[in-house]
Amino acid sequence: MSKKGKSKKEINFRKLTRNTSWISIVVIVFVSMCVYGIISIAAASFAGYIVTEKLDSEIDSAEKMADLYRSSDLTEERKYMLLNMEGRDYYILDTVTDEVVHSRGTVERFTDHDIIKAEVISPDGFQLYSHAEYAFFSMDEDNSLEVDPLAFFRYLLKQARSINNKQDLRAEVINIPVWMRKTIGENRDLFCRMNLSLNLNDFLYGAAFLTALMAIMLAAQGIVIANAIASAIRRRRSLNMLFKDMVTDGKNSLWFTFKGNRIIRKRKNRERKYAVVSLELLNYANFCLCHSLAEGEDMLRMVSDKISENIMKNEICARYSSATFALLLKYTDEERMKKRVSHIIAQLEEINSDHRFSYHAGIAIVDVSKIEDVDTKGRKVIDIDKEYNYAGAARETLSGSDESGVAFLSDALVEERKWIDTVVEKQQAALDNEEFVVYYQPKYNPRTDELSGAEALIRWESPEYGFVTPNRIIPIFEQNGFITEIDHYMITHVARDQKRWLDMGLKCVPVSVNVSRAHFIEETLAEQIRDMVDAEGCPHEYVEIELTESAFFDDKKAMLSTIGRLKSYGFAVSMDDFGSGYSSLNSLKDMPLDVLKLDAEFFRGEQGGDRGQIVVSEAIKLAKCLNMRTVAEGVEIKEQVDFLASQGCDMIQGYYYAKPEPGKAFEERMMA
Ligand code: C2E
Ligand code: MG
Ligand code: MG
Repeated sequence: MSKKGKSKKEINFRKLTRNTSWISIVVIVFVSMCVYGIISIAAASFAGYIVTEKLDSEIDSAEKMADLYRSSDLTEERKYMLLNMEGRDYYILDTVTDEVVHSRGTVERFTDHDIIKAEVISPDGFQLYSHAEYAFFSMDEDNSLEVDPLAFFRYLLKQARSINNKQDLRAEVINIPVWMRKTIGENRDLFCRMNLSLNLNDFLYGAAFLTALMAIMLAAQGIVIANAIASAIRRRRSLNMLFKDMVTDGKNSLWFTFKGNRIIRKRKNRERKYAVVSLELLNYANFCLCHSLAEGEDMLRMVSDKISENIMKNEICARYSSATFALLLKYTDEERMKKRVSHIIAQLEEINSDHRFSYHAGIAIVDVSKIEDVDTKGRKVIDIDKEYNYAGAARETLSGSDESGVAFLSDALVEERKWIDTVVEKQQAALDNEEFVVYYQPKYNPRTDELSGAEALIRWESPEYGFVTPNRIIPIFEQNGFITEIDHYMITHVARDQKRWLDMGLKCVPVSVNVSRAHFIEETLAEQIRDMVDAEGCPHEYVEIELTESAFFDDKKAMLSTIGRLKSYGFAVSMDDFGSGYSSLNSLKDMPLDVLKLDAEFFRGEQGGDRGQIVVSEAIKLAKCLNMRTVAEGVEIKEQVDFLASQGCDMIQGYYYAKPEPGKAFEERMMA
């Protein structure tokens, strides 16, 4: 888990499924803005260009009229005549009397409210007035002409529509009246009515250019949008591929993790309970071996289809690994869930009429309302893979059976898993800190009650977990291979203790040490043991090696060789727990062992009665015939001791005489 409490898988998922469509949206908006920006600038420039061009020539004419009036020494009458020859509508206003002193054409005095005033446009200081109807230009802060392209084109369109002769629209000219005012002498202002003559042809070329530009821009925008849509589709497709299970055509474990987490996160599911199910098709590998992989995969496909038929909305199913399927089902109570899963299994069992398959299902319950982890948006967060593992652990409790079955994850199972995890985590430190302690359980001669041996048994004196017995740790060490370290540790410590006790002048007895079967695959085991004992300076006859019966199932040849070499180095070798399995007699036949340890099961409770006694006495006889000594384990009552003594059992290791005890106590026992 990372520091934010998210698993690596979860983080990678986030990256994978991160919604990047906002990037496309930003790009589309940006491109659109650029498109409309460029079109507006082009339109404005075009309109501005036309209007300024036309106005400039009109202003030039007005300037000329003003110069005519001012520059000559002619009489007023003559001036007016010359001005009239210009052919324009104009009037000259006496600014003191506010009277028109001269005019030509259809001049109307205009009033301020129906004009737009554009201040000083010509270098000589003309003021421009335009009727509100044509108010598509104004002056900006720098005194330059500004044209509103929208208003301009709207006006042109309106004019074009009102033209009666539509035959040759392009030849039409639209005149836009503009009044210009300039002071031309004392108390004299010249007002000229000029016309911006716009040829519709020019306008049409411009419009064509703008349309083409707009089309290109829209095409570019279209490409960007199409690209964004295509990449969204591509992304969706590749996500589908990523989540697809190639064998069943259903979904895979990635999907389960992804979708499962999403379902749990949904706000509407906050109060729900879910069952995470790990369902295994048993003996799948065997089936493939005996038939074919293709047939095996067909079977998986049918299983996947059948499960899918059985799941409801907001439930999911995926093939998690080889022949296991993960399901996320809505949960109400244990009984109903068990019924439902059993019903699914019953249907699955019917799939293949030629070959009956069994199924194991493990179930872990997720109560969403009790989940405390929340993400930044306040949604519940779980590690669904962890829950699936719990379901798997529940399923594994059924692993001994070939029958179909359903198991729920129990608190005890969770505790056990946690304990295993703890042991694995702490084992090396515990070994380094010598937290493992050797206890000695004495073995007595039942006829003389004399101490004649002992077995070294491990205990873990943990500062954190207190006194831990071997049945809580040895199976874990055997599982994870740490048992070989433990066996070395025990042999070394026993040899060390023995050497010390011998040096103290105590009457030492042989001490047997358990050696795990896992250790027996090592070819040089006998030499390792010899070297370890030698390193402590302990004579070999004081250390005995115990092998459990299950160890005898492994490579017989190697086993025989190791036992032979151990014996040749002077170590006695015993068979532990004889009678707890079923192949012990066979092993006895082949292995040249020194001691036979009768399993405690023979002496537990009232089991066996007379028949039990017969078996025990025959086993002792058998051992004697094979030249082996016998040790009876787990003997707790006097009658058993007397019986074993009468049958010639050599030693008894049991609570009747003593429980396993620390080295110090055993030392004192030897002193006594
Ligand atoms: P084991 O080797 O068969 O050891 C005998 C077990 O029987 C010991 O349990 C002992 O305490 C118990 N026992 C002896 N007499 C009686 C009795 O009268 N009544 C009852 N109820 N129990 C009795 P322990 O010490 O809990 O060890 C259990 C098993 O753990 C051992 O069985 C052995 O297989 C394994 N083990 C213990 N220490 C080691 C070790 O250092 N290395 C390895 N590889 N295995 C070990
Ligand atoms: Mg033992
Ligand atoms: Mg035993």
